[in-house]
Amino acid sequence: MLAVRWRDRTPRSGTWWVRSSAIGMESLLAGVRSASGETTIASMAMGMVAAPQCAVCGSPATRVELVAPGQVPEEWGQWKAERRQAYEKYRDQGRWRLLFEGVAAGNGWVGDAIEAARAERIETAFQEPYTYAQVHTAGFYDDAGFCEQCDAAYCYRHWRVSETGFGHCPQGHGKSLDPHW
Ligand SMILES: [Zn+2]
Ligand SMILES: [Zn+2]
Repeated sequence: MLAVRWRDRTPRSGTWWVRSSAIGMESLLAGVRSASGETTIASMAMGMVAAPQCAVCGSPATRVELVAPGQVPEEWGQWKAERRQAYEKYRDQGRWRLLFEGVAAGNGWVGDAIEAARAERIETAFQEPYTYAQVHTAGFYDDAGFCEQCDAAYCYRHWRVSETGFGHCPQGHGKSLDPHW
């Protein structure tokens, strides 16, 4: 089963950091400072977005977002009200959250809460320049669109994904891109 693809406006590719102020990041920082007398590493937590580029067409192949504790997703301001409500309902302010849009499927509207260690692992995996070996360590079932043999990422169209979620890259290498198969 392939999920509906909702990506329509990731404006760039590569990896970038996000510091959101939409829900009181300043007061969160202030709270951390006043409680401990100094700025702790926790207060420096920043979100991250990684969008590897398709080697053929240049469009983002996949999108990985880490939302830091207490922050909101990068595109929050563009989300529909119902998606925001769903997110507010499920999120845990104290935890990292992962939003993943893979080649053929993702982890949905509201993503998943993840441990800090996993967030760190993902962050390390998506340091540029991207390599298959490095991205593979993040543990995504589709390696965020990377073909091992090509050491490059491809988008849904250029993976030529079949109905069962199996894809073939432009060089003919095969890969399962669906978490259910
Ligand atoms: Zn492409
Ligand atoms: Zn390939």
